[in-house]
Amino acid sequence: MSGWADGFRDGLRPDAELTVSEWADQFRVLSSKASAEPGPFRCSRTPYIVEPLDCLSSSSTVQRVVLMFAAQTGKTELGMSWLGYCIQASPGPMLAIQPTVEMAKRLSKQRLESMIQETPCLNELIAPARSRDSGNTLFSKEYPGGILLLTGANSATGLRSAPCRYIFADEIDAFPVDVDGEGDPVSLAEKRATTFARRKILLTSTPTIKDHSRIEAEYLRSDMRRYFVPCPKCGHMQWLKWEQVKWEDNDPSTARYQCEGCGERFSDRHKPQMLRNGEWRATAEGDGKTAGFQLSGLYSPLGWFSWADMVEEFLRAKNDAPALKTWINTRAAETWEEDYASKISADGLRSRCEPYEYGVLPEGSLALTFGIDVQDNRLAISGWAWGRQEEGWLIYHQEIYGDPSRADLWKQVDEAVLREWSHASGAKLRPDVVAIDSGGHFTAEVYQFARERVRQGVIAVKGASSRNRPPISRGNRVDINSKGKTLKKGAMVYSCGVDTVKTTLFARLKHNEAGEGYLHFPEQATDEYFQQLTAERQVLKHTRGGFPVREWIKKPNARNESLDTLVYSYCALNHLYSRRDRRTIWDQFEKRLEEPAKGQLKSRKAAAHAASNFVSNW
Ligand SMILES: [Zn+2]
Repeated sequence: MSGWADGFRDGLRPDAELTVSEWADQFRVLSSKASAEPGPFRCSRTPYIVEPLDCLSSSSTVQRVVLMFAAQTGKTELGMSWLGYCIQASPGPMLAIQPTVEMAKRLSKQRLESMIQETPCLNELIAPARSRDSGNTLFSKEYPGGILLLTGANSATGLRSAPCRYIFADEIDAFPVDVDGEGDPVSLAEKRATTFARRKILLTSTPTIKDHSRIEAEYLRSDMRRYFVPCPKCGHMQWLKWEQVKWEDNDPSTARYQCEGCGERFSDRHKPQMLRNGEWRATAEGDGKTAGFQLSGLYSPLGWFSWADMVEEFLRAKNDAPALKTWINTRAAETWEEDYASKISADGLRSRCEPYEYGVLPEGSLALTFGIDVQDNRLAISGWAWGRQEEGWLIYHQEIYGDPSRADLWKQVDEAVLREWSHASGAKLRPDVVAIDSGGHFTAEVYQFARERVRQGVIAVKGASSRNRPPISRGNRVDINSKGKTLKKGAMVYSCGVDTVKTTLFARLKHNEAGEGYLHFPEQATDEYFQQLTAERQVLKHTRGGFPVREWIKKPNARNESLDTLVYSYCALNHLYSRRDRRTIWDQFEKRLEEPAKGQLKSRKAAAHAASNFVSNW
């Protein structure tokens, strides 16, 4: 660092003459390594980035820029242009934060390094990484007048670094809620900049869950700008909304945008012209220092992501809550509202019970799983039959009272569950997977029961407390029997993403049409069953750092075994996927119905006897 630069630290150095967008157009070159469209960078390709970029210029009075952008709209490139501008035109200490240190490393290697190499004016300022004492490493880049540090939001040490005038926090909704017990990583990072009067902070992300999304909270505090574009026909200025996208017969290629003014529908072809003539308009007052920008995938430039692509993805995702959530977050750039629980009532579910034969797998079902919940004085057991597209039928629900530390209770599970079940076609099926909760007070007993019945599809499961987990994970071996002794061949225990599964299932309980994802209930299901099924809802909680998190909670003193057993039955179904080819799994199951069952005659009597018992036990 030269003595000259030292004398012109923050605020003393004259402001850059160029805006960030002018700088990017003049100096930036996209490499073939990091970009699908290599060559000189052109803001005109994505005209909506000009204003956010210029808010980041030294000449702008805006202090914080918030981008709630869809994927494939050029969000990260926008951040990169700003970093380049700061290095060359308005140097100062700078901190770039990715969700994790690993991702920061990747950004440095893949994007930053190639921007520096391909952009001559940056190349001159930063020494090649290979030379010794170059001040150029993966996590820090020195240049005259400043230094760029890269870190992950999962590293409190990285966030506590020296004061920084510029902060670029990318994908902040993926940041941890709390970093090393020191609180919210975004606040922690922003504290680095408080001493700089002319600080700039760029926060970007695709959003996540409503009331849980950092970027949405920031956007709502801002002046909430939307990109208004003119209708090609009547000129009416409007910001693009998903509900204005129309298509016919589930055919994405017919996707058109319907003008809110004149009702005319037009295709993607008009997008370049609309984008070029668009402008950002604030839709809220804001605090005067924060400029917020929201942009959905409908604005992706021609050739990147079309309206037809958007419709196609939507049609694929619409019946699958987790997939739809991803679509809403990354394509619509909106938060996902998890309010299903509040809209489902026990009475509503009770009223849609159907008269199919209890204890028998109905027509259309092809697989059978069980979920067992272990309480201190009883076991709750549900049997779910599953068909294509995860249409489900409750065919069995039972509580067996007794002491789970005693073998005789478990013997009843053998008799009630691990037997042949009749299918409406006349075939016999044994349960495919039986998932038993091992998280209660009888862990060792569950392990032992599962270990001895691996061949019959019995697995020990455990609810994972963290969010965003898959329905069921790969198993871990545990090696303890009921007497606390280590076993050579211990049981496998599988962790279940109960949070994810509840979200999926509550979305499906809202379906009102049989078919994909629909859950059927027999007339034998009782009021108590449905009370338990709807005993949980999502609430907002605040972490120590004050950050809101959604959590499933049980109504006080309510029982919830019929929900838990459904959750475990569904995890059991997902366990099946991991063991077979998911593309052909239902065809494989269908074939089983054609094969004559072994020992069919002998078991028929036993099955009939058992079925009569279940009804009386509801
Ligand atoms: Zn119009």
